[in-house]
Amino acid sequence: MVGDGIPTIIARDERRTPRDGADAIVNAIVSSASEAMRKANVRSSDVVAAGCSSPGPLDHVSGIVIETPNLVGFRDIALASRLERGLGVKVFLDRDTCMAAIAEGLVGAARGAKDYVYVTVSTGVGGGIVSGGRMVRGATNTAGEIGHWPVGFQPDPGRAADDGIPRCGCGSFGCVEAFAGGSQLAAQFGARDAAEVYVAAESGDTRAAGLVIRAERALANLAVGLVNALNPTVIVVGGAVAEYQPEHVIEPMRRAIVDRAFKAPARAVRLVPAALGGDVGMHGAVLEARERAAGRGDWFL
Ligand SMILES: [Zn+2]
Repeated sequence: MVGDGIPTIIARDERRTPRDGADAIVNAIVSSASEAMRKANVRSSDVVAAGCSSPGPLDHVSGIVIETPNLVGFRDIALASRLERGLGVKVFLDRDTCMAAIAEGLVGAARGAKDYVYVTVSTGVGGGIVSGGRMVRGATNTAGEIGHWPVGFQPDPGRAADDGIPRCGCGSFGCVEAFAGGSQLAAQFGARDAAEVYVAAESGDTRAAGLVIRAERALANLAVGLVNALNPTVIVVGGAVAEYQPEHVIEPMRRAIVDRAFKAPARAVRLVPAALGGDVGMHGAVLEARERAAGRGDWFL
């Protein structure tokens, strides 16, 4: 059900992501979507199209997930066509952060902006870039993975470049995500989730406080880089860590832009919290499926 505003959620079904391979994940998505349709009392023949928001890198045109460091066994999976077979519904696939960027651009905090960046700081760090009114997709449709922008390296030329620098799930080192992603923060501290690290830092644990400061510095560098390189009018920052720890995410990014970015682009940009909350991926999936099914959405394809 989509009007001109934020889509209305009429039913939902949530499940944990299986850890035992791609088939289990695909099956879980099919049963979850089927259950949501049952709750909403709609048949697959009533559904014009479905949107699937997935971690990337992926190709939104072919509907193939290329690889996802955080999902076990997900490599070169034709997710859109497999879901279409399972559900009997046309499925449009896109990266979760691109769908979130589309939602924030159409009905959220970047509404009306032609040059904006969506950044999520959650279990991972990611984003989507819209420049000159078009989503930046790149040569193989994987552009915008700003969480894997490297911001750290070992400056001593006598040591290896990654010596003492956090490894990232993507295989590289020193990525923004390797410092500021919630799962990485939790793993580095030995906690179950990032919230524990922030609580420990708050209560005076110096190791936790050090990790939090490192995360802030990585996000600050990302913010300066985005402003200098892309000259956006809006940077929308969402994701659970940004939502619950704005003083450790939003504030250091804002300060760094004022202190260190070029003055002209710094004056032109607003860095704002996301407007659509935890359902942004679902809203984006619905909006993108609606636009693509109607033959629109050229600006983000
Ligand atoms: Zn990385």
